[in-house]
Amino acid sequence: MNNLKKVKCCAAFDLYKKMKAAIFEKPGINNLKVDDSAEKPKATDHDVLVRVKTVGVNPIDHFAVSGTRQVKPLPHIPRAEISGIIEKIGDHVEDDNLKEGNKVIIHNKVFDGTCDMCLEGLDMLCRNGGLIGVVTNGGFAEYIAVPDKNVFKIPDDMGWDLAASLPVTTLTPYHALKDASLQVNESVLIFGASGNTGMMAIQFARKMGAKVIAVSKNEQVKDFGADYVINDYEKVVEQVREITQGKMADVVLNSVGVEAWQSSFDSVGVNGRLVTFGALTGADVKINVQSLYLRQVKLIGSTGGTRKQLKDVLSMSNQLKIKVWKRFKLEETKDALQALFAKDRDGRILIDVGRS
Ligand SMILES: [Zn+2]
Repeated sequence: MNNLKKVKCCAAFDLYKKMKAAIFEKPGINNLKVDDSAEKPKATDHDVLVRVKTVGVNPIDHFAVSGTRQVKPLPHIPRAEISGIIEKIGDHVEDDNLKEGNKVIIHNKVFDGTCDMCLEGLDMLCRNGGLIGVVTNGGFAEYIAVPDKNVFKIPDDMGWDLAASLPVTTLTPYHALKDASLQVNESVLIFGASGNTGMMAIQFARKMGAKVIAVSKNEQVKDFGADYVINDYEKVVEQVREITQGKMADVVLNSVGVEAWQSSFDSVGVNGRLVTFGALTGADVKINVQSLYLRQVKLIGSTGGTRKQLKDVLSMSNQLKIKVWKRFKLEETKDALQALFAKDRDGRILIDVGRS
């Protein structure tokens, strides 16, 4: 991150124009305020200015506000998963497909395009980058300016709720399944299956031709395509053994963290893959390395996704379903962030920023 300043991103500021935003000067959820005092970003020649419409709320947004993740600049506007309408295009933007008035989503990674990771197409791992809304201001605001390469046009008829669920909630499990090299006819075990990424993972796993075993107390996961539902968390390993006739799962997705760690690990079959991409219940786990190598289990950490994969996800978006639990106004951002940890959360939390 030392070279972060070299990465061109996100706006010079016009001091004379203000906008409404959720903003904080010091970490802490109670320090977050929503008012009209934030500076409106001005797109540089290579940037696109987006009028924010609907944003999805994710745990990272809470971590940014609470101080668990260090952010800059301060005062800071947190991130979120952003959809909106192009307000203005910089003079040197090369993508002729982008036009003012287009509906768009924003790939939420800052990247330089020149480091070894970027050259491999792994822009989300850019050595000089970071997350929009963590290393730059984010989308809990009326406007955001981002480089043109972060802006993806979406179909006019796409609903805003789905749009605001593509850059993180949809991309992350898609990338995780790609990292796991899930194959046709393999079995995949999905923990947190009724969570937002879980429901997307089910849909993608089905498209990839896998047998989907969902761990959830919510039978609704069947509507998203789960072949089997395990609702007794104490019996996951036993039931996976039964369903797979002793083979155990070829791929296990754990986006939950420590709470499901042991059953995740014990449910992977020989030569299987265990993928982790979240740790809401805690990140410190124990592992028996002998069991890992004797079964030749591949342990895979996965984060975000590439721009190419965001394109893939966009091309499949008309076949994807999401579930919205609660929606808030920008003024209610604090409530929206706190709702992330509600025990009865059942679907997406969205914030409608733009006036309709
Ligand atoms: Zn890079």
